Formats: sequence, structure tokens, C-alpha cells
Amino acid sequence: MYLEREPLHLSASQGLQLGLVGYPLNKSLSPIIHTTLLNLCEINGQFDLLPIEPEFFHRTEGFSSVVANHPTLAGFNVTIPYKVDAYQWVAKKTSQADRIQAVNTVKRLENGTYIGHNTDGIGFYKALPEAIKTSLGNRHAIVLGAGGACRAVLEALFFAQPAVQTIMLVVRNVEKAQPIIALATQWATAVGSTFSVIPFEALSPALLGTTTLVVNTTPVGMVPDVEASPLSLTQLQALPADCYISDLIYKPAETLLLQYASQQGLAHQNGLGMLIYQAIEAFSFWTNNPIQPHWAKTIEVTLQDAIG
Ligand code: NAP
Repeated sequence: MYLEREPLHLSASQGLQLGLVGYPLNKSLSPIIHTTLLNLCEINGQFDLLPIEPEFFHRTEGFSSVVANHPTLAGFNVTIPYKVDAYQWVAKKTSQADRIQAVNTVKRLENGTYIGHNTDGIGFYKALPEAIKTSLGNRHAIVLGAGGACRAVLEALFFAQPAVQTIMLVVRNVEKAQPIIALATQWATAVGSTFSVIPFEALSPALLGTTTLVVNTTPVGMVPDVEASPLSLTQLQALPADCYISDLIYKPAETLLLQYASQQGLAHQNGLGMLIYQAIEAFSFWTNNPIQPHWAKTIEVTLQDAIG
């Protein structure tokens, strides 16, 4: 995948200053992940949480105020609810950011301007098992939900090589999903895949019977709502034995959807891999350090030690 390489503006006296802008951030695992990466690369630096209340963000000059208040910040991640604001603010964008129309990674350039990137889709794709990546050209996916994470997942699946054969987007509000439907329709046409949309109520056993990849991008099943699942056990029973289930949620580690998948003997994964790989991609974008294969495992072990 295309990745723009630009030299990083580094404050020599204080080392590499990185951070995360969003709200709320109290449960963020990013400081653990990026501190591990700084240590792995023997880089003097730090990663700070920069929670900014939306009311304050919009009352001030948004990201212009953020960087003015943190002049040594060389790069930062952006999370809910500011990914679209970041996309609109940066002077330059990578192809992924341009396609997804949202930015989760910002880097200051030597001329003092900022470039925006989006590593969510790459992170999702990299976390998939090799056998799923190589068989995407024959896979019929259903993607549940139509929010920010869904955009990144659709972009990753359509622009993968091979591209996914078909995607059916399953939403609870087709009207609200129109912008993402318009984007995905363009992407599918560009790469020669098939794209369609249905409401949750229309997800019949016949449709599920031909589905070979399920991606949950809704927050249904996330802590504290752990008794909920976007699909019922009966619906999981309609899936073929080679269907792969990917839930973007990582807390809990095994959502009810993934418990149903286990019961049906379906291969599956949670969202921890996506979280780790999107961070690794962001770190490499900031520092130009080539990604090392052992980083992901080291971060996973560190996270397990830290969060249990
Ligand atoms: P978002 O922008 O709020 O989108 C959530 C989507 O889910 C919306 O389309 C929403 O529908 C739909 N939805 C919510 N509740 C639903 C329900 N009860 N039934 C059906 N659909 C429902 O959130 P997001 O940023 O995309 O994040 C979604 C999930 O992905 C979260 O759990 C988040 O933690 C996870 N995530 C994980 C990673 C990772 O690295 N693993 C990265 C990003 C996100 P409406 O549009 O109708 O409201």
C-alpha cells in the first residue's frame, strides 16, 4: 500500500513528542503501545494523552489551537470525535486519508505544515490472517455498521490485493449511511467488486448462507454492554463453516458474537490486532522506522501484562 515518507520535525532537546487527541481518552491503550515502540526503537521521546472537550475544541481554533498549545508535538494520533476535523485541517493528505476522508495520524513536516494519514484500514487488513487476505478475491463479506471504523474497513477490503469479491453493508439506518454508501459504491466500481446495502431486518438465512467474511464495526457487545451481539446465535448457525468472523471490539477480548463463533467452530479474531497494527503504522509514519515483524507480538505481550 502507498505510504508517504516525509522527514519528521524533531525537537532535539526534548526528544520525540507524540500524543493522542480525542475525547474521552481515559481508557486509551495508546500510551502503552507507543511507549513500547519508542523503547523498541531506542528513541528518546514520550507519548501523551491530550483529551480535549468538544465544546473547548470548537470554541477555540480546533487543531490550530492544539498545535499552538503543544509546540513540540512532532506527531499525533486523532480519535473520536475529531478524525474528520483533522482531515479538513491538514495541509497535505496520504491516499488512504483522502479515500477514507478522515485522519487518525498527523505528522508535522520540516516546513511547519502538517500531513494527515489514516492507518485504521491498513491496521485492520494487516491483522487479518494470511489465509483470509489471500482468499479475499473469493470472499463474500457482510460488514455490520456504517460509522467511522466501517469506512476504514471498506477501504481496506476494496483496495486490498486481491480485492474482496462482494461486500454487503448491513445498517440500521440506510438514510444516515448515504455518504458511506456513495463512497463504497465508487470504490467497488473502481476495483471491480460488488457492493450492496441492506437493513439488519433483511439479513436472511439465505444471505448468511453465502457469507464467508463477517466484520462487526458496530459497538454492540462492547464493555459494558457485553450481553449484546449484533447477530444472534441462530444467525451464526446459518453461516458456512469457512466463514471468518472479525469483531473490531477488543474489550471484552471475547464478545458475545465471538463466543457464538466459537460455539459454531468458526475462525475469528477480536480488534486487538487492528489496534496494534494501526499504531505500528502510525509510529512508522512518524519516525520513518521500518516496521519490524516482532513489534506486534511485543506490544501484545506488553498489553496483556498491563491490562490482564
Ligand atoms: P461510530 O462512528 O459511532 O459508528 C458505529 C456504527 O455502529 C454506526 O453506524 C451505528 O449506527 C452502528 N450501531 C451502533 N449501535 C448499533 C446497534 N445497536 N445496532 C446496529 N447498529 C448500531 O463508531 P466507530 O468509530 O465506527 O467504532 C465502532 C466500533 O469499532 C467501536 O466498538 C470501536 O471501539 C471499534 N473500533 C475498533 C478499532 C480497533 O482498532 N480495534 C478501531 C476503531 C473502532 P448509526 O449510524 O445508526 O448510529
